Amino acid sequence: MIDASTFNQLVIAWIWLGLLTSIVLFFVTAPYGRHTRPGWGPTIGNRTGWLLMEAPAALVFAAMFLNGPRPYTTTSIVFLVLWQAHYVHRSFIFPFTLRGEGKQMPLLTAALAIVFNSVNAYANGYYLFTLSGGYARDWLSDPRFLIGLAIFVLGFAINRYSDYILKRLRQPGETDYKIPEGGLYRWISCPNYLGEIVQWIGWAIATWSLPGLAFAVWTAANLIPRARSNHRWYLDRFADYPRSRKALIPGVW
Ligand code: NDP
Repeated sequence: MIDASTFNQLVIAWIWLGLLTSIVLFFVTAPYGRHTRPGWGPTIGNRTGWLLMEAPAALVFAAMFLNGPRPYTTTSIVFLVLWQAHYVHRSFIFPFTLRGEGKQMPLLTAALAIVFNSVNAYANGYYLFTLSGGYARDWLSDPRFLIGLAIFVLGFAINRYSDYILKRLRQPGETDYKIPEGGLYRWISCPNYLGEIVQWIGWAIATWSLPGLAFAVWTAANLIPRARSNHRWYLDRFADYPRSRKALIPGVW
């Protein structure tokens, strides 16, 4: 059992590591998806990679809940449901909806994501279910929870809808890329990333916790540099790509 002071110091160090990672990612685009390239060691199938990468987030968080003190509170069950609404889909459904059969990703990418997801789920689960001493039931009517929940749901909807638009760009068996249209793609290249960042900012507010903040920082740290890489990739790849479209924030960047 880690005491509160040590835990907080570790999470703060984790946040710094996320920021450092972000700087690296501005120079070295993570090699998966459209940015997969040789030279990163052995590879595994894309679908298997996504399953392996994301499953620890669902499983470790569930284990932290089950290992937490009983009886379970309504608030902890609500946090469990919110987390799993995202991660059960991302781990066990999303990989099987991906089109682009036969694509590979480096094992290294999957391994790093497994480490991130395990640490992140452990930190959030340990804090929420054990270290915090349990959130009282009236937390569910606290403005921080309600505002955070609204932001979380908004981000979740943007992320899921934007990923759905991407999926529909390919027929089964197709592997090539097209220009996405509709939804927030009218204004930005990566609304799925914007939704994901918004979602975990909502989580940080709803849980009002240091590990929640760390998750939001890590998500932004990963996805801001990647949005820049994807946006540049679209501009290079498609001569008719809409020039007014921004990378991540409509009208701004
Ligand atoms: P992408 O937008 O790069 O790709 C998502 C899927 O859509 C892939 O199957 C991709 O195929 C396909 N696709 C993308 N663009 C096109 C296009 N123009 N035409 C046809 N197909 C396309 O997202 P990521 O793979 O980076 O991320 C997937 C999800 O995971 C997102 O919701 C993201 O927010 C989330 N994520 C969260 C992170 C976090 O830190 N919380 C980190 C990374 C991702 P292909 O694989 O062939 O490129």
